[in-house]
This record gives sequence, C-alpha cells and structure tokens, in this order.
Amino acid sequence: MIIMKKTFVFFLLFCCFGCTAENKILSTSIKNINIIEKASTIEIDIIDLESFDSIQILVNKNHSLPEDYEPKDLIEPNVSTTKKLFVREVLHDDLMEMFKEAENDGAYLSISSGYRSYQYQKTLFNNYVARDGIEAASRYSARPGQSEHQTGLALDIAAKSGKCTLSSCFKETDEGKWLNENAWKYGFILRYPEGKEEITGYMFEPWHFRYVGKKEAKKIFESGLTVEEYYDVK
Ligand SMILES: [Zn+2]
Repeated sequence: MIIMKKTFVFFLLFCCFGCTAENKILSTSIKNINIIEKASTIEIDIIDLESFDSIQILVNKNHSLPEDYEPKDLIEPNVSTTKKLFVREVLHDDLMEMFKEAENDGAYLSISSGYRSYQYQKTLFNNYVARDGIEAASRYSARPGQSEHQTGLALDIAAKSGKCTLSSCFKETDEGKWLNENAWKYGFILRYPEGKEEITGYMFEPWHFRYVGKKEAKKIFESGLTVEEYYDVK
C-alpha cells in the first residue's frame, strides 16, 4: 500500500499550503487521489489499484493476480447470458440497470463471459497459442493471472442476436454502439479501445467492459484515456 502512504503525506502537505480551488486534482506521483473541497467539507477519494478485491484493481501484462485468487462475492447475474457464468455481486445492481436501460433504447445485451479462474485462463491461453502461435495469441488473450476476467469485474458483452460476438464488427451493432456511448453511466468502461494496443497491450475489443464504479468510470470516459493513461501506470 505504498500509494496510500504517500498519499497521506502529500495530503497533509497539500493542506498546510492551503487548498482553495474546487475539484482540485493532484498530478504526477499521486494522480490516483482526488481531493475535492466543497465549502467546509473535504472529500477524499482513495483509488486502490493494488488490493485484489478493490473494484479499481489494476490487472494487465505488468500486474498479475495470484493463482489462488478468486473473488469472494461471485454470483450468477440475473441478466441474459450465453452460458452459465459468474460476476462479482458488487457490480450487479449497476449491471441490471444497464441491461434494462439498454433494452429501453433497443439494444439487447447478453453476457458471453464473466469471471474466469486462473486455471481456466491457462487452458484458454495455451489453446490459443497452439492454434495461432504465442505472438498472435498475446495480442488478444491474457496469460493466466493477467486476465481481468479473474477479477470477476470484466465482462464480454454480446448482442442477444449473436451478431458479431467477440468480433471487431461488434462496434457497428446497435448493442456495440450503445455500450460505447453509455456503459460508463453504469460504472463500466471499454478497457481495450481502438488504437491503444501499444498502451493496453491488447487489440481493440469493443465487447470487453470493465467495472470500476460509476464515479471513476465517468472520469475515465470523459478523459478519453485508457486506464493505464488515466492513472499514469504501466
Ligand atoms: Zn474479455
């Protein structure tokens, strides 16, 4: 929890020197902390990118989860899915709301993948490597421990019609377009945007959404940045 320690020191210094502006965001080394002063109350958002159960846990090619990590609050979601799957309960209310609102707008969603165990990811990755070779497989599939799906906070979302499931043409479907514009309102962000492969390590995946909570999703979406860029992490 080095990030958090640094934060408190910084916060004290920050207050000593006085903080008057509204919605101030500290930069560089403590970008993960927002200090918002409103009248006499000070609100501190601590964004925890390290704890495994944090909804902001950072998982990518440089940040892995241990083999034995499994979220404690996995449930079967009460929305359309293409198979039996699990997600973390912490996102379930927002997920239900998102699917309902999408349907009101004529976008019919279904989840094709939710939580994946380390072992399952290992099997998947090895199969892809056997089929396409390690270089190609690494562009679209995570190594075991490096998949956001192991957090239980990542979803692959499809159209109920099955059109363009797990394919780049999903972005052209009503469902893909709706998600791209609206998922952030429910706490989900498009994790691997187009043209950001160098940063995220993965090719464009218009179907892969990651829950980070409504507050952070709004800020990340409005910034137009990837998670790595927004929090200034590798
Ligand atoms: Zn995915």
